[in-house]
Amino acid sequence: MTNLIDPNAIPNTPVEGWQPDPEHPRRRPPWIKVRAPASQEYKEVYSLMRDQKLNTVCEEAQCPNIAECWGRRTATFLMGGDTCTRSCGFCDIKTGRPNPIDWAEPLRVAESVRALGLKHVVITSVNRDERADGGAPLFAMVIKRIRKIHSGCSIEVLIPDFKGNEDNLKTVMDAQPEILNHNVETVPRLFKKVQPQDKYEWAMKTLGNAKKLDPLVLTKSGIMVGLGETFEEVVQVMQDLAGQGVDILTIGQYLQPSKKHLAVERFYLPEEFDAFQKIGLELGFKWVESGPLVRSSYRAEQQVRELSRLNHFRLRDVVEVDAS
Ligand code: SF4
Repeated sequence: MTNLIDPNAIPNTPVEGWQPDPEHPRRRPPWIKVRAPASQEYKEVYSLMRDQKLNTVCEEAQCPNIAECWGRRTATFLMGGDTCTRSCGFCDIKTGRPNPIDWAEPLRVAESVRALGLKHVVITSVNRDERADGGAPLFAMVIKRIRKIHSGCSIEVLIPDFKGNEDNLKTVMDAQPEILNHNVETVPRLFKKVQPQDKYEWAMKTLGNAKKLDPLVLTKSGIMVGLGETFEEVVQVMQDLAGQGVDILTIGQYLQPSKKHLAVERFYLPEEFDAFQKIGLELGFKWVESGPLVRSSYRAEQQVRELSRLNHFRLRDVVEVDAS
């Protein structure tokens, strides 16, 4: 691919300043400030999740934005149980053999979306590689249920790569989510270390095929930085994603959840996140969310609002809803 990037846009990699300390993963630079969860809204979301026996990425991944997001009554629902068949080095979700799928879960998620009065929802799942369908029907079911009982809410699904399986992807795309998200997470050189059961090709194929199966969907992907990649490698991944027609990009700082997870190799400076955003917009992404605390679902509702204002987004006009 042609290199479209102005080399002056790439800041020098800083080596001084804030060095990560693997022995003290909670020690973070001053620009990474995490609010303590205390608001009434936070407590309400917490109670709802417990009452409905639902899992969220916000909790499972120890997301640093939980006070802010739950304080705004938004959350990312995690379906398919709380146990993942893959064992990524950055992720705090339990690995192992999951329980059988709970097919009533999509309805409980939909009811919670309605109870929270959400205008936009993000739904993801653990990997269910033990199943031929990869758990894809859960996504189709939850989309249909939400449309049936809480119409007007836009739906973003953050899906696994289904090992590049097109039939499973089609199951999701046929339900017509407004946004199809799959995070590439890191640069190809680090896949073996960071997410050993994933393949870069599967990530790219998932995003490219999603657009082919449904040209009206907005596609989205995310990258974590600080795992040992170079700035230039990140830019190359951005170019690859742009080449797949991806519309929305998120870039955030990796934070080590505990000592047993991969160590942070470096903390990027806020200026570097600004540089990623500038480069992303030059590459043609419709929206780039880039910052130390940016996560895949961070400010997702505001993104949709801004994209609507720019005429890049509109709610699906789905006439027939079969919520079976
Ligand atoms: S950024 Fe996403 S995962 Fe983190 S608290 Fe917000 S909604 Fe949850």
